Amino acid sequence: MGHTEERDSAPMSYASLIEVMGRVNDFLNASSVLSWDARTMMPKGGAETRSKQLATLTVAARNLLCSDEAKRALEGAEAEISGRAPDSPEARIAAQVREAIDYHERIPTELLHRKTELGTAAHAVWAEAREKADFAIFSDALTTMVDINREMAQAIGFEDHPYDALMYRFEPGVTKRDLDTLFARLRDGMLPLVRGIAEAEEPRADFLYRDVPAEAQLAFGEAMAARVGYDLDRGRLDTTVHPFEVSFTRNDVRITTRVSRTYMPMALFGALHEAGHALYEQGVDPAYTRTPLATDLVSLYAVGGVSFGAHESQSRLWENHVGRSRSFWLNHMDEIRAAFPGVLDDVGPEEFYRAVNRSRPSFIRVEADELTYDFHIMVRCEIEARLVDGSLDVADLPEAWNALIKEYLGIDVPDDAQGVLQDVHWSSGQIGTFCNYTIGNIMAAQLFDTATRETPSVQAALDAGDYTPLRDWMTDKVARHGRRFTRDELLEKATGRKLDPDPYIAHLTRKYSEIYALG
Ligand code: ZN
Repeated sequence: MGHTEERDSAPMSYASLIEVMGRVNDFLNASSVLSWDARTMMPKGGAETRSKQLATLTVAARNLLCSDEAKRALEGAEAEISGRAPDSPEARIAAQVREAIDYHERIPTELLHRKTELGTAAHAVWAEAREKADFAIFSDALTTMVDINREMAQAIGFEDHPYDALMYRFEPGVTKRDLDTLFARLRDGMLPLVRGIAEAEEPRADFLYRDVPAEAQLAFGEAMAARVGYDLDRGRLDTTVHPFEVSFTRNDVRITTRVSRTYMPMALFGALHEAGHALYEQGVDPAYTRTPLATDLVSLYAVGGVSFGAHESQSRLWENHVGRSRSFWLNHMDEIRAAFPGVLDDVGPEEFYRAVNRSRPSFIRVEADELTYDFHIMVRCEIEARLVDGSLDVADLPEAWNALIKEYLGIDVPDDAQGVLQDVHWSSGQIGTFCNYTIGNIMAAQLFDTATRETPSVQAALDAGDYTPLRDWMTDKVARHGRRFTRDELLEKATGRKLDPDPYIAHLTRKYSEIYALG
């Protein structure tokens, strides 16, 4: 085709690289639209063809990224911009494209195919096992999935532990050794709180379970998301089963939440959490649109955030540090009363604040509170690492799971459905993603601490119900940079140091000691 020949012979430049990466971006954003539709609007019947369509687009994006055209464009770009500062957007774009091509080329396509095919089959097996609360049904499929992941780790390469290779796709640079240190620090700081709360009196929370129409809950969730700065002219809120945020460009960033008529925190905090993710995407520098600084070429997701953990820091910040703060309810109690007429007339802001911050050990990760959540993550990361390095057999998984839940949270897992079978991740072959949640929690506290301590006007504004100064700070320090800096570079620029769990432990200690009157 003449068109192709023209491309083959045209001199390659930085502009060519941007042009090719723009097309990679288009594939990934189109795939995001299809997956948004699949999770919000699509009838059940569409599932089979939709998963093929999504796979086709992802493979097309990967193939274009690794094509001769892209490689020649990259070489041209590297020659053209060789004088630029190493952390300039141009140099970072070229470096990220090179890194992503290298990453994808290390993984044999045959291995990817096997993983995708098994993922489809294993998902159905997992669903049946969970339904019947019987791990044995899932055991063989999971054994194969673990083997495939071990092959992936070998193909990707690692220095110290095969788990490092698997986490790279979601949280570049994090190692099992880092996690071990981090988790030990968190346990030292948090377990005394968990133990203390187990002995303490529960705050009143009956009113959280009162019947509120779904429409009223959604309208209030949307209003609060907009209040903290989520731009509805560049977004929309829909309902789904497992809430998520997805971005097609910074100008179309959608969020979802789920509603329980008889548990009002679900829709509200779901909306605030996803709005936090959305503020990240809506705040990326417009100049980065359709470039690798707004798309993750390694994970092949169209996201502007620098890592999955960094993304989670923004959702946890707005959900927990803002939405679950005392000042938030001092400012908005009248509004929630007006939004749910007659439902909360006997509840004051202090009572509401305490109720939405209750903590108690529980079995299900996605329903866990702010304090106990990270223990669910530790269980998963420890188990995944042992599966991947071969020190734990799949057959022994339920026992290992139940023992860790008992050790950390002091509760006995009643059955596999409420234990080892609860998460969808392993059925689709995803191993190495869970650490993002805890890294997000730590990073959220670190950023919030710096923002409110170094800029007293940020805290004063929060006390007055004005979220603009905090949002502006986060846009300036985090969101606008897109994927230009690494997570630790971003943290060092914003807070003067790398990932540091101290502000997070201090935040939890302050909050829970006060609510539960711990000594
Ligand atoms: Zn999230």
